Amino acid sequence: MSEKNPKLRGALDGIPTYKPGRPAAAGGRAAYKLSSNENPYPPLPGVLESAVGAAGTFNRYPDMACSALVAELAERFGVPAEHLATGTGSVGVAQQLIQATAGPGDEVVYAWRSFEAYPIITRISGARPVEVPLTSGEVHDLDAMADAVTERTRLVFVCNPNNPTSTVVRRAELERFLDRVPSDVLVVLDEAYREFIRDEQVPDGIELYRDRPNVCVLRTFSKAYGLAGLRVGFAVAHEPVAAALRKTAVPFGVSRIAQDAAVASLRSEDALLERVESLVAERTRVRDALIAQGWTVPESQANFVWLRLGERTLDFAAACEEAGVMVRPFAGEGVRVTIGEDAGNDLFLGAAEAFR
Ligand code: PMP
Repeated sequence: MSEKNPKLRGALDGIPTYKPGRPAAAGGRAAYKLSSNENPYPPLPGVLESAVGAAGTFNRYPDMACSALVAELAERFGVPAEHLATGTGSVGVAQQLIQATAGPGDEVVYAWRSFEAYPIITRISGARPVEVPLTSGEVHDLDAMADAVTERTRLVFVCNPNNPTSTVVRRAELERFLDRVPSDVLVVLDEAYREFIRDEQVPDGIELYRDRPNVCVLRTFSKAYGLAGLRVGFAVAHEPVAAALRKTAVPFGVSRIAQDAAVASLRSEDALLERVESLVAERTRVRDALIAQGWTVPESQANFVWLRLGERTLDFAAACEEAGVMVRPFAGEGVRVTIGEDAGNDLFLGAAEAFR
């Protein structure tokens, strides 16, 4: 019996799928998962309470407009509610941004290597990815990115700090870049790790957005706020970009549990930012220890560090796994290691030392 497959868009052929990130148990041993840039702290009691409270309503659809969360964000960031759009994680919002701007024949520019979702969501839309190499394999080359913008470019991603290399672009170069990009090209500043930045020369995208209608800032509750499993992110953008995001949203894409937990997180921000401070201190400890072992480690402004390992990448990741730590390898390039709980970081440091 011959069966025909349904007709799928050719544009989907060959698009890589997301790497799911295995659970933290290697070879039956307890393992630390330092591979997905998650927050190692469990939910704060008050945040958990609000999520559990909301769970009792899941026979109902949530508020599609996320009104309470949007109002809270508007106040927290001093932006009009109409300039906010929430979504299913910031990757969901990024996918909506591409859907709203780019289709077949269009181009989307971003640095490479950067966040793995950019090529996937660009190609799903049928647009063409234009990947601009990082300088020294680590830092955005904003001049080259501005040069890469053509009449076909609809959107440019700037990942600041960059996943997976942890590096940043600073105010002067970012402003020069924004001045060069035509005003009808959307520039998305992906600030998923914003709260971990301690370099004062890195501008807050929300300040840059204010007088630039083509700048859109992406933020998430998944990292500093510790809600990765609840899937809630948001964008700050002028009309008509924010309106397009509301139009392209999956209806009810942010659950009531996620909405209430995000509101509770904003109201518990001091406690959450204290935890971020501890992770930042731990980041310094881990990086200093790696440097003392003889590794070269770019200065990190995120909740992870980057080790360039080239051909030794997969062996290094296997050695870490053997030691009970999951890290994120990028074959032939390097590994990204999340700053986790102290004991996991120590295990990782032990594995790194033994590998050298
Ligand atoms: N942007 C960057 C740069 C990221 O690293 C991530 C998560 N790995 C995201 C966006 C997406 O996060 P989420 O969808 O959980 O908000």
